[in-house]
Amino acid sequence: MGEDMAVVIDGKKISQDVRDEIREKTLRLRKERGIVPGLAVVLVGDDPASQIYVRGKKNACREVGFLSKEFRLPSDTSEKKLLDVIDGLNRDREIHGFLVQLPVPEHIRTDAIIEAIDPRKDVDGFHPYNVGRLFSGNPYHRSCTPAGIMELLDRYEIEIKGKEAVIVGRSNIVGKPLTLMLLERHATVTVCHTRTRDLAEVTRRAEILVAAAGNPGMISGDMIRGGAVVIDVGINRLETGKLVGDVVFADACKKASYITPVPGGVGPMTIAILLRNTLAAASVLLPG
Ligand code: NDP
Repeated sequence: MGEDMAVVIDGKKISQDVRDEIREKTLRLRKERGIVPGLAVVLVGDDPASQIYVRGKKNACREVGFLSKEFRLPSDTSEKKLLDVIDGLNRDREIHGFLVQLPVPEHIRTDAIIEAIDPRKDVDGFHPYNVGRLFSGNPYHRSCTPAGIMELLDRYEIEIKGKEAVIVGRSNIVGKPLTLMLLERHATVTVCHTRTRDLAEVTRRAEILVAAAGNPGMISGDMIRGGAVVIDVGINRLETGKLVGDVVFADACKKASYITPVPGGVGPMTIAILLRNTLAAASVLLPG
């Protein structure tokens, strides 16, 4: 690839396309079967970033015609109280999907919370049941950010089969589930982390390189193979207030064939997939 040849993947547009499709299907579901998909979000405490995410999810629900419910609990809410709220949502017939916005305050066990959610309503795809089904090749709800990345690759008709994919980051919400999704689509996947011995040597092998470390600018141009597809999941706020990814964007553009920007790349896809999971739960289009 020559200078500045990378195609910049427009996550904002793709996210809008997916949401438009969801709105259409929601309308049909309501007309034909009288079902209105319902999504609830539970927020414990007043973390500013979480508040922004929750507001975004609520607006997105409104836009596609979903019912949306929001539960704001104070930061000293007990685990028991939160479990009661989850129990109520598990039984709420108007609600097809819900999530507890993470992180929760430290006195609450994240695992206990996630495991209390009915897996059918776990539209974040974090419940061990959903993780296990992804692992065994018969996924139910897929976690949203990695599924959003797969959607971007597919909508840009980027071939995955047989490709060398390298993921930097092995978290439960991005790196690990994405590993399984790429494997499911026949990529050869390598996963890197802080103990990887020679990171650059591995990333330079990647035909599809995914940076999901949360480390601003850690992927420089010389770590990218010519013509690679570069997916930047990182969202890092610099002291100046600027939002940047894990990849040095300007340099990467000169090496990559496709690249996602930050913001406007992977970020907007997460909510779109959350809505899609909720719609699937409401229409019961999921595998049994
Ligand atoms: P975590 O902190 O949970 O995981 C980061 C991973 O990256 C770890 O596996 C860590 O390795 C690895 N890592 C960190 N630094 C390095 C390094 N220098 N070299 C090699 N590996 C490294 O982060 P998340 O997965 O939750 O998020 C990653 C990024 O993606 C963040 O910037 C986050 O904001 C963003 N994000 C964006 C989303 C979206 O677009 N909607 C959604 C979720 C996350 P180790 O395991 O060894 O510690």
